[in-house]
Amino acid sequence: MKKHWRGCLFSIFSIILGLSITGCTPSATSSAPSASSSSASNAHAVVQKSAHWSYEGDEGPEHWGELEKDFVACGHGQEQSPINIEHSHLKDSHTQQPLQVHYSTTKLSILNNGHTIQVNAASPSNDIVVNGTKFTLKQFHFHHPSEHQIDGKNAEMELHFVHQSDSGSTAVLGVLIQKGKENQAFSRIWSKLPKDTSQEANLEGEINLATLLPKDLHSVRYNGSLTTPPCTEHVNWTVLEQPIEMSADQINQFAAIFPDNHRPVQQLGTRELEADK
Ligand SMILES: [Zn+2]
Repeated sequence: MKKHWRGCLFSIFSIILGLSITGCTPSATSSAPSASSSSASNAHAVVQKSAHWSYEGDEGPEHWGELEKDFVACGHGQEQSPINIEHSHLKDSHTQQPLQVHYSTTKLSILNNGHTIQVNAASPSNDIVVNGTKFTLKQFHFHHPSEHQIDGKNAEMELHFVHQSDSGSTAVLGVLIQKGKENQAFSRIWSKLPKDTSQEANLEGEINLATLLPKDLHSVRYNGSLTTPPCTEHVNWTVLEQPIEMSADQINQFAAIFPDNHRPVQQLGTRELEADK
């Protein structure tokens, strides 16, 4: 209770001081980090001073690295995300364990943080296991068009499930979204998309998060970064090979709020892309 109030007060002060909730950060707004958080989780702090970054013009992705001292990785990082996933660069891994996803029926809250629509998971009972490490789901959010490319092509949208391990490491599960059939699994979320920047609001009922994923969980893994400032590195990326579908109407509803909220692909450099087959 005490922690909850501290979180609330922090949020209220944040609003008064004109701070805003950042986009691709791991933690849900309902669990503000305490002052004793590790440096890793501070780097992904939930509520940060509002640096005016955007997806176009002088504050667009090409300039993120110059906007704030803390954003230097956006301009000079060596392991940045997103990337173009070229099938010719994929190495089949015989050592990596298959991705494990343990998603269940969960209460959710939704907000428009000014950079995306973010959905926070209230329950800590959703997790993924990547190479033996458990990462707990904090939130998921959307990009239009996709951030990752497959063989040089963007998908219509991309869904990012953001997780954090007990030690503060971040793992993001990326799911590409193609235009196709209406996706009923998202209908409750889509009926509540906040058009303007908003506070967190509870979604009625519960949603089985497993229904948001494709059937086939084969994936590509690489070491990358957050795709929004401060572009923090050492993010464990898993991008599913099988996309999900949404109807043109569903995609248009999101695009009406965020016509373009994607960061362009970054250099792969010396990194390796591993397929877990
Ligand atoms: Zn994202």
